[in-house]
Amino acid sequence: MELSTLTIHELQRMLREGETTSVAITESVFKRIEAVEDKVHSYITLTEDLAFQQAEQADRNMQSGRGGPLTGIPIALKDIVCTEGTRTTCGSHILENFIPPYDSTVVRKFREAGAVFPGKTNMDEFAMGSSTETSYFGITRNPWDLSKIPGGSSGGSASAVAADECIAAIGSDTGGSIRQPAALCGVVGMKPTYGRVSRYGLIAFASSLDQIGPFSKDVEDCAIMMNAIAGYDPKDSTSVPAEVPDYTRFLSKGIEDWTVGVPKEYFIEGIDPEVLDAVKRAMQVVEDAGAKIIEISLPHSEYCVAVYYVIAPSEASSNLARYDGVRYGFRSREGRDLMEMYKMSRSAGFGDEVKRRIMIGTHSLSSGYYDAYYKKASQVRALLRRDFDEAFRQCDAIIAPVTPTPAFGIGEKMDDPLQMYLCDIFTISCNLAGIPGISVPCGYTKSGLPVGVQFLTGHFEEGKLLQIAAAYERHAEIERRRPEI
Ligand code: GLN
Repeated sequence: MELSTLTIHELQRMLREGETTSVAITESVFKRIEAVEDKVHSYITLTEDLAFQQAEQADRNMQSGRGGPLTGIPIALKDIVCTEGTRTTCGSHILENFIPPYDSTVVRKFREAGAVFPGKTNMDEFAMGSSTETSYFGITRNPWDLSKIPGGSSGGSASAVAADECIAAIGSDTGGSIRQPAALCGVVGMKPTYGRVSRYGLIAFASSLDQIGPFSKDVEDCAIMMNAIAGYDPKDSTSVPAEVPDYTRFLSKGIEDWTVGVPKEYFIEGIDPEVLDAVKRAMQVVEDAGAKIIEISLPHSEYCVAVYYVIAPSEASSNLARYDGVRYGFRSREGRDLMEMYKMSRSAGFGDEVKRRIMIGTHSLSSGYYDAYYKKASQVRALLRRDFDEAFRQCDAIIAPVTPTPAFGIGEKMDDPLQMYLCDIFTISCNLAGIPGISVPCGYTKSGLPVGVQFLTGHFEEGKLLQIAAAYERHAEIERRRPEI
């Protein structure tokens, strides 16, 4: 058994019992990267030297009894979290040479926990996309079928975990960017409650929606990752000083006597029949595990895509104003004065999708349109949030599809932004409401592409979320296949 194929908890046990070393695990991961990275392209930057230094240090710490749950474990980082001394591009030309002078809080926590960093993963430029095709650094391919997209925007993190190019990974989710690629690549991906994980050092896309979360090979690893990253951070004023339980305690609890809601608005026309089948089987499993399934309504669901595509670009247009060619990264040499230098740096530094978002956002926020767009969208957002408050009065958790289709072909939706935006129809509401959500593998299509099922719970109920996800995983006994690359 190759070490790179194992989970955090399996490796942790082996490390504790002296059956392996972090250096051996790291070697196995880099051997795998060497074998498949040319085809998959999960990474923008590989940090092999750093990884081996960290692995050696981890082995020394283990030997002297100073190891923790992540000591010596290779964790890939989406190239949107700042890493001191390692370039952080956000998938963009404009940050091609940006080397942050500081660590994001999650990265600092991983360093302190003794994790190993194999590299920074590929992503849609500034996390805007659902396919990892808008990256300045080239596309990532789905390890299950190299002619398909891995999902996005955290496609590189999802594919790296699926292809065993790391043991677990970090992503960010603004409208589905963890859950959607996790579903399409057959791994577990979780978006925590807004405020649960510090956003300090996360390059901002839409600040009221962005949240960092884990990708892992199973639900237990997801809980271990959450233990490492959750918690209040004085450096992020939107992080919440709520107690962080030990999430692994929830894994074995079971869901007998739970009520699980199925939102009727999520079973729309156009959803792929194989996805629908897989999600229906997942509902049966949840029922077999002892829960009662009821139909619920989230009446404002139909507005979520429209609301998101006003709010997210509005916030993005403001966040991305800082890239002026002066303080960070790329600068055009052609402008004759300051104004021209700004314009030319931004024109050459941003890709088409990012420019589209900046234009939509600037328009929505401009005087004369603000009330009609941004303000209206914010009002409907409050209604969407209320839908969930109502729903969670009737049920403990919600079960739903993650994506309307399995992974689609490379290039298929690149000329049709609306089709691309509709990929997020089942993931966006969770961000707008600020609640946590998880995607768990629930089967394969006939052609062998993975499908995911989504669970949602109320604010700060990550424990319950992991509880139902683990109960589902245990009862479903989905066969664990590996992609042949
Ligand atoms: N696909 C969505 C978008 O393009 C969500 C991206 C994300 O969650 N970062 O905005």
